[in-house]
Amino acid sequence: MKPKKMDKRLFGTNGVRGIAGRDMTPSLVLSIGMALGSMRKGTVAVGRDTRTSGPALISAVKAGLMAAGCDVVDCGILPTPALQYIIRQRFDAGAMITASHNPPEYNGVKIIEPDGTEMGDEETIVLEDRIFSKKFDLAGWAEVGRESNGANLADGYLKSVVDSFPHNIGKGMTVVVDPGCGAAVSTTPEILTRMGCRVFTLNAQADGTFPGRMPEPSVEGLSSLAEMVKSTGAAFGVAHDGDADRSVFIDDQGRYVEENCVLGLIADYVCGKQKGAVVTPVSSSRLVEVIAERNGCNVVYTPVGSIYVARTMIGLSQNGTPVALGGEGNGGIIYPNHQYCRDGGMTAAVMVSLLVEKTRPLSGLIDALPEFHLVKDKIRITDSLDIISRLKKAYSSESLDMTDGIRINRKESWALVRPSGTEPLVRVMVESEDKNVAEEFYQEIMACISP
Ligand code: MG
Repeated sequence: MKPKKMDKRLFGTNGVRGIAGRDMTPSLVLSIGMALGSMRKGTVAVGRDTRTSGPALISAVKAGLMAAGCDVVDCGILPTPALQYIIRQRFDAGAMITASHNPPEYNGVKIIEPDGTEMGDEETIVLEDRIFSKKFDLAGWAEVGRESNGANLADGYLKSVVDSFPHNIGKGMTVVVDPGCGAAVSTTPEILTRMGCRVFTLNAQADGTFPGRMPEPSVEGLSSLAEMVKSTGAAFGVAHDGDADRSVFIDDQGRYVEENCVLGLIADYVCGKQKGAVVTPVSSSRLVEVIAERNGCNVVYTPVGSIYVARTMIGLSQNGTPVALGGEGNGGIIYPNHQYCRDGGMTAAVMVSLLVEKTRPLSGLIDALPEFHLVKDKIRITDSLDIISRLKKAYSSESLDMTDGIRINRKESWALVRPSGTEPLVRVMVESEDKNVAEEFYQEIMACISP
């Protein structure tokens, strides 16, 4: 069964986030630590990205966990997927101090379950209830937890990624890595070096002021990476968001590769080797469907949010349905053979392996993909549920998918209207291979939304 989205008070789709010192305070994070420690007794691994507020906030979460009787292992600065990998190996829970792609003034907490996935909605609501009602199960003096250093544990993650590919597979390939001064500074360059690649880096020092570019790897922020790819003759450039669960790419010609194209390209590569479902949110490009079907695979749609993709993949696989790949159209890709979470370092490694097997360079592979046109908009609205039911009625004779908002599927196009979880607005997406068809369908939807 597909996981359903549930309303939470504090946490969003990927943890709780806010401006450090204003919303994201040590006292809030201490409460999160005490609540998590009350729910998950045992040994908890914690880590953080490079933000300046990280040391203060990780101290707060550790204090809360130890006060609740948990032993804590501090893994220091590392990517979220590295912490997730470590937790699944041997820990009872985890907490990652990160605000992912948000600007430097933000920070946040992602809670990790023993299976390495982010905490689901139901459990998060229980955690929130404990925080709001201050229901903490604190330990007496003899049971207070202890802290130990786990800075060396990230090497297990590095090794597991590198060992997923033939030895020295990247020999002769030049690549450029831009971790953006974020959590991947000591992982992705190392992974690609151990795979045999010749690695150039930029923004590869841990720096929470993010002097080189913002944590969101946007087209504008990656111009230096693009220049470096061209000047070094690299096969590709890869950049991560602040906690390195997402990867974006620059091709050998220095062009930014749209993230749906990365997902499409990797789906083509993985599905060519392994049959199974490709799991992706309803907001992903139809390119994924076209490519999956071309390879004899099917697409399973989920609500928007990586946790829904991961949990759907786990559910399918537990029911005996093979799963080839999961991924979002924002550069977050999940490899079920390795672990059920988005993994930026693994995605960079898969790109090496993919290019070794293909005869064309990355630019040629991207140009060969079918081109889709996307129209995107957001409409301020107070009653989004009314809009959804109005659209449901108007399009009742068409193929509808109500997984998250409403998606109207036509042969040549699709449209998605989805209420935002955090703001009074609906997001509208319309896509087609034909630009005019997309535009016309968008106008039709808008006429229905605002009659
Ligand atoms: Mg992230």
